[in-house]
Amino acid sequence: MAAKPTLAYVGLGANLGEREAALRAALLALGEVPGTQVLRVSPLYRSAPVDAGGPDYLNAVAEVATTLEPMALLHMLQTIEHAAGRERPYRNAPRTLDLDILWFGDQVIDTPELTVPHPRMAERAFVLRPLADLVTQRVSAASLQSVASQAIERVGDAGWADGAMGLKCS
Ligand code: AMP
Repeated sequence: MAAKPTLAYVGLGANLGEREAALRAALLALGEVPGTQVLRVSPLYRSAPVDAGGPDYLNAVAEVATTLEPMALLHMLQTIEHAAGRERPYRNAPRTLDLDILWFGDQVIDTPELTVPHPRMAERAFVLRPLADLVTQRVSAASLQSVASQAIERVGDAGWADGAMGLKCS
């Protein structure tokens, strides 16, 4: 019997190269991961790097349904990052593509390799703002208020990812 899919939220970011193209390609690749479907994608945001230098990031969040286990999904995300030319020369280095598991159903995971909910998501406007666009009721006004000082703006229209896959943008 096929495993029941879990609803997961994946944060996407890029601040080097053709950033929007990298995010579209990542969404396409995500949709091709076995047992995984991209259900919805947030609007696109531009944000200043947090704790790092370099160009502004483009960010979004994808809602996916997956039959994979969390660790298997993480490894698929790392494969997609790697294929996008991601290098890790030092912590918080600029990156062509960054993919994070924000939530995996309602699971709480604390292993050396994977922490879910993502440990820093509550501090980051570039995660909370697009996440709130997808799941308004799960992101409190207080959380959004706590990151209100961070430089971030919505860019482009809600359908920015439409061409990347046959899915609905929120
Ligand atoms: P980063 O440099 O932000 O891409 O961090 C990647 C590292 O964070 C990897 O070594 C992962 O094993 C680890 N990690 C821990 N929790 C998560 C998560 N929820 N999503 C993605 N990477 C995670």
